[in-house]
Amino acid sequence: MRSVPSLLSMLGDQEPPRRVMTPWQYVRLRRRAAGLSIAQVAAPFWVRPEHQHDVEQYFRNLEAENLRHQRIYITEGKPYFFSIDVYHQLANLPAHQHPRLCTGCGWDEHSVQYDHNGNDANWSADDPQLCTRCEQARAWEDSRAAKATRHAA
Ligand SMILES: [Zn+2]
Repeated sequence: MRSVPSLLSMLGDQEPPRRVMTPWQYVRLRRRAAGLSIAQVAAPFWVRPEHQHDVEQYFRNLEAENLRHQRIYITEGKPYFFSIDVYHQLANLPAHQHPRLCTGCGWDEHSVQYDHNGNDANWSADDPQLCTRCEQARAWEDSRAAKATRHAA
């Protein structure tokens, strides 16, 4: 069989292309990383019951594909779960100007996040796409899967 040179080898030693994260994927990753449902993230933003549906719909729309919001109605001081600056960078800047984000949870290095040992999250030394929190979670899942496989054998 004829071997085809890979695209990466043709690019020389340029870095492999990073997957572009969209703003809606970012919001969804951050919400899931916080372990929150749409109803839970919306709850601090409505008081009167007749507003609940609209507020929840607003948060649902933040995760809707191909919608880029230019205004985000989340005020400082409320418990928010994603960076509005990062959101705008993903929505408005070309991919090469996007901030570096964890592909597992959307963490950026300017945001405070703790890993599962209670330390400040950092970039994984083994997988530069991941933060240490996601690396720990992955290692835990891998060891659980390995145990299950051994158990089944
Ligand atoms: Zn992460």
